[in-house]
Amino acid sequence: MHIVANPPTEMDPGGGAPSPGDSPRVASAASSAISAAVVSAVSANSSSDPSAAAADASMRVAAMVRDVHDYPTPGIVFKDITPLLADAHLFAAVVAALADPFRGVVDVVAGIEARGFILGAPVALALGAGFVPLRKAGKLPRQTLRESYDLEYDSATLEMHEDAVHPGQRVLLVDDVIATGGTAEAATRLVARAGGSVSGLTALIELPMLGGRSRLGTIPIHVIYIV
Ligand code: AMP
Repeated sequence: MHIVANPPTEMDPGGGAPSPGDSPRVASAASSAISAAVVSAVSANSSSDPSAAAADASMRVAAMVRDVHDYPTPGIVFKDITPLLADAHLFAAVVAALADPFRGVVDVVAGIEARGFILGAPVALALGAGFVPLRKAGKLPRQTLRESYDLEYDSATLEMHEDAVHPGQRVLLVDDVIATGGTAEAATRLVARAGGSVSGLTALIELPMLGGRSRLGTIPIHVIYIV
């Protein structure tokens, strides 16, 4: 049992927002370096069979995510991914697993504050794509698009700079956890309002009993660890 009642509300402190706009040369060099690290991280622990690698990544993620009960409020089981992030090999393998299904179909990665920044920035580099931060209300300095969404006992707002995604750009959404799907749904609305198209949603963990997928229509969803 993970989240048993209300979905989490404002659990994330503010996170740093990487700047988009690295030159293609820098992006491609970084992408190669990350890919090399990832290949060696995955192959050290699984066969070259992609489905075996995926199963391996899922088991390793499950082992390294900590359940924190009654945080941030009673009834919530918070998925703490900090042990996973502290393991360099697993972190690299997870970045590869998040990125791999979307190679060649993404122009921009949009990471959802705050853990979607930690995962999304290296995924962007692995895909040779730019990075756009989707932030909680009031954190971005310039003109924004805003989308509010309901949580069970609360509501929240997600913002994106109005010029962060250009019309026609293919956008991959990245977050750590899909619970009710409200956050990701708001993210898809922001991208659509900017004229972008959502290539997919890639996430570390899904809590399927909360029904998030049903809110997300036909968007391709890729999850490493389904609880
Ligand atoms: P939701 O909008 O209900 O799908 O919630 C997803 C957002 O809330 C993500 O940005 C997650 O970081 C966060 N979240 C939801 N449930 C949990 C959980 N059990 N543990 C950690 N983060 C969660």
